Amino acid sequence: MFEDLRDLYQEVILDHGRHPRHGHRLEAFDATAKGDNPLCGDRIQLWLKYAPDGTIAKAGFEARGCAISIASADLMAEAVTGRTPAQASALSARFRDMARSGIAPDDDPDLAGLRPLSGVHEYPSRVKCATLPWHALVAALDGAQEAGSE
Ligand code: ZN
Repeated sequence: MFEDLRDLYQEVILDHGRHPRHGHRLEAFDATAKGDNPLCGDRIQLWLKYAPDGTIAKAGFEARGCAISIASADLMAEAVTGRTPAQASALSARFRDMARSGIAPDDDPDLAGLRPLSGVHEYPSRVKCATLPWHALVAALDGAQEAGSE
């Protein structure tokens, strides 16, 4: 069962890594930020467009890097659409905890779609691949142009 789940997670990562649904620049946007992970060579630029009510209407990105970083950016773009900046920023913190610990609380439905990335905690050098887009997200939400790293 566990092995099946791993295979499924791996499939999700490969699918989103190869065919990202949100892997394009937004022509009209309200916030943008870049991030880069020199350890792996991943680079990303993220764009956000806000709705009139202040929620995130759209997220798009251009990225070059490994499948994990691109899959993480794509799943993130899906996960933050429709959320307020405060919710998106809180989700980023929970995602980063999950990527480091591998623990995705069952009572956190917001993490459900992101769970395929929980396996990266077994590969400490890849954790930054998965968290890179989320650092760029926080930078964009804060109005910074460059994501800080840890
Ligand atoms: Zn990477």
